[in-house]
Amino acid sequence: MAIEKIHKVSNIGDAITLLEKYKEKAELLAGGTDLLVHLREEKNRGSIIIDISNIREMKKIEIKEKEIVLGALTTFSEIVQNDYIKENVTGLWKAAKSVGSPQIRNMGTIGGNIGNASPAADTVPPLLALDATLRVMSNDGERSIKLCEFYGDKGETALKPNEMIISVGFSHLKNRREHIGFEKLGVRNALAISKISCAVYLEVQDKSINNIRIASGALGGYPIREYIVEDFIKGKVLSDEFIEVAAMKYSEALEKRLSGRNSWPYKKEASKGVFKKAIYSLVNSYDPNNS
Ligand SMILES: Cc1cc2nc3c(=O)[nH]c(=O)nc-3n(C[C@H](O)[C@H](O)[C@H](O)COP(=O)(O)OP(=O)(O)OC[C@H]3O[C@@H](n4cnc5c(N)ncnc54)[C@H](O)[C@@H]3O)c2cc1C
Repeated sequence: MAIEKIHKVSNIGDAITLLEKYKEKAELLAGGTDLLVHLREEKNRGSIIIDISNIREMKKIEIKEKEIVLGALTTFSEIVQNDYIKENVTGLWKAAKSVGSPQIRNMGTIGGNIGNASPAADTVPPLLALDATLRVMSNDGERSIKLCEFYGDKGETALKPNEMIISVGFSHLKNRREHIGFEKLGVRNALAISKISCAVYLEVQDKSINNIRIASGALGGYPIREYIVEDFIKGKVLSDEFIEVAAMKYSEALEKRLSGRNSWPYKKEASKGVFKKAIYSLVNSYDPNNS
């Protein structure tokens, strides 16, 4: 679709005024790493581009008492450079670090990764496993959307045409029993978009799995929480044998969605491996003195 106009704004108020005016005709430009590709292929959703890249208030990482909040314009590089995230939210840090090339990490934002609604968006599975919440804003005010309720089929999202994502937040992993892991299987090419990824949040006490959240990337129409597998795993005892059983259950859940596709025979084996790797990356984090 041809561009009619580009507006560059420097605050949230101006951005949402323009979104209100143009609604479906508007498309936001954050880092532009997805949008510029869409423009070149004439697959952009809107003809009025609102460049939000200069809105400073949306470009910050806040470690608050109760939660961690990432402004929508936080880049992957800023996440990678944040020591708190590296130490405490390792799965999200690993996902940000795995994105594209240094240039893409410097430009690409977390809000763009979420808003682009690609099934292969690398930071979305860890955010889903963290049970993250989006803060969105429009002329009508502000509201929260749970990330697990954000995506629908065919690139649809819960965002109204006059809304934009301001930030994404999630609770701290409070004690040494809670961990978040991420594994990705891409082609051996720094610019490869993720083929398969899996993020796992795990809370283990005395080897018993108190809580687990699993999210898959590039294994469906959008990044997906694997609720059936989570319910199966909760309350079980963590062991090598059980991880094998859980991986089979994960594969069964994926099969219901993906069997019949040409890629399924490959994804069947690969996804089991990625899932197990994500779990094992956490198993070693448990300090027996604190579990
Ligand atoms: C060579 C290359 C390699 C890549 N590798 C990876 C990879 O390994 N992993 C990966 O996950 N991605 C990858 N990407 C995709 C891309 O870099 C990411 O999806 C990035 O997060 C997009 O962010 P952006 O700020 O550039 O978004 P933009 O391109 O500016 O916007 C993307 C979409 O999101 C919407 N949007 C942006 N901000 C908001 C907001 N605040 N509220 C609502 N909607 C919004 C825009 O309107 C647009 O539709 C790659 C892209 C390229 C070109």
